[in-house]
Amino acid sequence: MKDYYSILGIEQNAGETLIKSRYRNLAAIYHPDKNPDSQSKFLDINEAYKTLMDPVLRNIYDKDLKEYEKFKNALPENKVIPYRSRLRDGGNVNINIDFTNEIKSGAGEFIEKTVNIERYIKCPACAGEGRDKGTLATDCSYCRGTGTVKNRGTNINEACGNCGGYGDIFLYRCKVCNGMARIKTSEKIKLNFAVSELLGGKKNIVFEDNGDEGVFGGKNGNLNVAVKIDEDVFGKTSNGGKGFLNRLLFFRK
Ligand SMILES: [Zn+2]
Ligand SMILES: [Zn+2]
Repeated sequence: MKDYYSILGIEQNAGETLIKSRYRNLAAIYHPDKNPDSQSKFLDINEAYKTLMDPVLRNIYDKDLKEYEKFKNALPENKVIPYRSRLRDGGNVNINIDFTNEIKSGAGEFIEKTVNIERYIKCPACAGEGRDKGTLATDCSYCRGTGTVKNRGTNINEACGNCGGYGDIFLYRCKVCNGMARIKTSEKIKLNFAVSELLGGKKNIVFEDNGDEGVFGGKNGNLNVAVKIDEDVFGKTSNGGKGFLNRLLFFRK
């Protein structure tokens, strides 16, 4: 969040006369006609002046500034907002696979399955940057760079909807991923399952890091496979003997 007071070099209780005179001094120094390198500084000075000279805008700004300072001071060593990392992490992808037929036909040590999965991968167009090459990000004006806004009903800080909780906004978003840095794809992948695990009754097999891609430094999600094997494979036969699975296990010994 920009500090308009330090931009103009004044105290937070400065009156209009002082704001005006500081603005005139600084605008004269940093005017782009005289100083072409100071375009952004000049814009900041104007923004600060316009905001602080309007009693309504200044009132809103002062409140936000106080919140921002409180919030910033509460962060241990300016750590980023907790849910930034959550937003950057990839989600888990869950699929179901039925192994009944493979198990019945007497599998070897491993079963290879080709599955179609939908997941987020790093955007190839921007290499996971989310923005056009060489362009910059700017503070989100809605949350003023904090990534959070206070819910007026609950009084709890929530992720800013304008910037998605990141606190900054890309000036030129990658058009392929729309600034998300990842895209959803549908692809066929091969997975290997140990038959011993399946027969051991494992209901969920996890392939770590194979879920949605984490972006902006976040972790990848996992791919969770819910295992299905028909109950009658495990069950008992009508003549009271062991079920198919038990016979198989016996055979394997
Ligand atoms: Zn924001
Ligand atoms: Zn992209």
